[in-house]
Amino acid sequence: MTRIPETAASGLTPVASYARTSEDFRKGDEHGVRNQHRINELTARQNGCVVVSTYTDNARSAFKPGAGRAGFDRLISDLRRGNTFDGTPVKGVVCVADDRLYRRAEDLARFVEALTCQPGRVYVDQNGVRDPYTKEGLLQAVMSLEAATAETEIRGQRLRNWHWSRAMDGVPHSGPRPFGRQEDRITLHPVEASLVRKAIEDRIGGKAIGAIAKEWCDLGVRGTRGGTPNPQTVTQIITAPRVCGFRGNRGELLLDPDTGQAVVGQWEAIVSPDQWRTLCRTFSAGSLFMHRGSGAPRLTGRKAGPRYLASGFLRCGADTEAGDLCNFKMGGSRSSQSKKSPHVYACCGSAGRGCGRCAISGPLVDDAIERLLFPEAGNGRVRLPASIRQRWMSGEMGFEEKRKVIASVFTCFVIRPGVKGNRPWDYSRVTPVWKWADRVAVADPDGLMAGR
Ligand SMILES: [Zn+2]
Repeated sequence: MTRIPETAASGLTPVASYARTSEDFRKGDEHGVRNQHRINELTARQNGCVVVSTYTDNARSAFKPGAGRAGFDRLISDLRRGNTFDGTPVKGVVCVADDRLYRRAEDLARFVEALTCQPGRVYVDQNGVRDPYTKEGLLQAVMSLEAATAETEIRGQRLRNWHWSRAMDGVPHSGPRPFGRQEDRITLHPVEASLVRKAIEDRIGGKAIGAIAKEWCDLGVRGTRGGTPNPQTVTQIITAPRVCGFRGNRGELLLDPDTGQAVVGQWEAIVSPDQWRTLCRTFSAGSLFMHRGSGAPRLTGRKAGPRYLASGFLRCGADTEAGDLCNFKMGGSRSSQSKKSPHVYACCGSAGRGCGRCAISGPLVDDAIERLLFPEAGNGRVRLPASIRQRWMSGEMGFEEKRKVIASVFTCFVIRPGVKGNRPWDYSRVTPVWKWADRVAVADPDGLMAGR
């Protein structure tokens, strides 16, 4: 964040200027963000505002989940606090367009929450001042998000097609050079290639992958991005199909649609296809390069993340003897008792702090959450963009993204204990705690985001 040598003159609203360029901008070109800040300054002036601080994310995507945006994060925390780090009050945000700020629902939710957490804030862009507390203001923000999401999907598809057609031509990937290759990505790197060959032979001969990684470390080997070898990176390097001249794309071996044969890349092979296949058989499927697209999670050495959709979101709603709610976090687990409920969430009494008197069918909870997120037309409290509904319902949306959507709308869910006996599912046992319902309900009396 850069401090602008200027304070809010009387009568002008002090605002934060945000600028972002995406990573497909020309490398190292900061003109994009500098220009945006210049436009923002002008826009602020024209609308009775003055820029008191700037927040910048250069070459940062706003649609890749997990792509860190330090500038955006600082903006959010300053908005929540109400001032910049040096105590200058901030009363709004200026930006060239909404899609600089958010391209995903959870970022929109974070931004609106932070912006409207105090009264009297404004949002300014080249279309003028927007009142973020009104129905119109929110609607505009949601519409921008929807447009951005649609554009993102088209661009993602285009990029995948581009990678695919390059791959079919046997042209190497763009990006950092693979270990074992020269900068042209085709010619072998004599030292690294012989390391790879030896590692493959050793592994086929029964050597532990950890031992190979340690050997590389002891030799002072570094990855092409400077990292120290570890079992995961070594596995990735030696099981990549390029070691035998084959071509992979998004975690699958590329086959020529006409012949059904593996596409052979332009690069020199380090080992034979037979050796590569034999090598791959020494690993479990999950740890293989071929079973992971670039975005797929690594299965080796992976920390156990949440297993079920609502893991971590549920609170026990059983009454305690003291007369209040147990409120203990309910955990998910597999259950063999019922076909209808292959997993359950339960308040765990044995762990000491929970009451252990409340459990609920996993699919019931998952269904209830889906009903709350995507209510029948006209009902309910949330209206997420249609594209999100479509991707969720079609099964296109992954587990992690679904959990992020849930986290952007709900703080948690309180689960009421069930009644004994074989009864139909009672969705009313799941009481949502909405993330920004109270705030929106006040700001939005007509109930765009928060219904009655
Ligand atoms: Zn409990």
